[in-house]
Amino acid sequence: MRSLIPFIHQLSRQETCDWIDTIQTQLPGCDIREFSQLSEVDKGQIEIAIVANPDPAEVAQLSRLKWVHSVWAGVEGMMANLSHLPFEIVRLTDPQLAQTMSEAVLAWVLYLHRDMPQYRQQQSFSEWRQLAYTDAADRHIAVLGLGALGEKCAVRLVDNGFRVSGWSRSAKHIESVACYAGEQQLPELLAEVDIIVNLLPLTPDTQGLMDRAFFQQVKSGAALINFGRGATVVESDLLEALGQGQLSHAVLDVFTQEPLQPQSPLWGHPNITLLPHISAPTSVTTASRIVADNISRYLAEGSIPQSVDKARGY
Ligand code: NAP
Repeated sequence: MRSLIPFIHQLSRQETCDWIDTIQTQLPGCDIREFSQLSEVDKGQIEIAIVANPDPAEVAQLSRLKWVHSVWAGVEGMMANLSHLPFEIVRLTDPQLAQTMSEAVLAWVLYLHRDMPQYRQQQSFSEWRQLAYTDAADRHIAVLGLGALGEKCAVRLVDNGFRVSGWSRSAKHIESVACYAGEQQLPELLAEVDIIVNLLPLTPDTQGLMDRAFFQQVKSGAALINFGRGATVVESDLLEALGQGQLSHAVLDVFTQEPLQPQSPLWGHPNITLLPHISAPTSVTTASRIVADNISRYLAEGSIPQSVDKARGY
């Protein structure tokens, strides 16, 4: 009999069809269905669910659930709403996503490195002024978060000639990257770097990490790229740091509330470049293959892939 696996989501119809069709093709031995198609009997028997921002109330109805596989890399929503339930949470770890994110990090680091925001502003005033050139080797970049995404980004920046440091919770060794770890080593790093790239997950420890005290520790005139999660940054403190020139520019792809409200002061700020959460879109094709491989392995061997550490929150 084919294993019944629900896809529980809050996506548009088109997105839902894409995910279900692609995963179904990869898992011919399973029956992938929407939550609304499950009977009460089904709900009491299901062991695995595939999820994309699921409604917690739907997931909570699956009383025999052993694990869920998210098709996204970030799991803060599920940690907030579902971590008290006894099943494991597996998130997407996709080398293609890391490749896409590293491309975005390189692109926006180059944007800041080659002074594109300033030249854009100068053009708007018809101002012909050549800014001093800085060699990439003299541009010091910090990548906060050295996980599946951050490590790939740090290495790509090194390959492009930048001086790169990284920060994580536990100590790391990455060739040509100066690695810092733990809260105590953060101030030393912040004081030295020209561009800070945030790729931390959102957890109780990283929520509000970038507040007034954080910005006071950064080297004067440094820039921020936030590709992690919006709530890591205290928006009012970011605006204050930009207003004082403590930060020169911020490239923001993620926000506490998405979509960003039309009345947000971030939209019109001259020193903010705003992106609508596009730095690393998940590939339905590669993500579905990874989800399918993990589920096939579980059905054959009973082994649940490495799951989120609920105590750490990521
Ligand atoms: P990951 O593999 O879990 O890596 C997380 C990294 O952050 C690890 O190096 C971890 O340290 C470090 N970390 C966590 N808490 C910390 C703390 N309190 N202090 C210092 N370091 C800490 O995650 P990932 O796959 O790289 O993804 C990172 C985040 O990117 C996701 O959670 C998501 O929010 C975001 N994301 C954004 C987009 C987008 O389009 N904007 C797309 C995908 C993902 P250890 O190595 O010591 O554990």
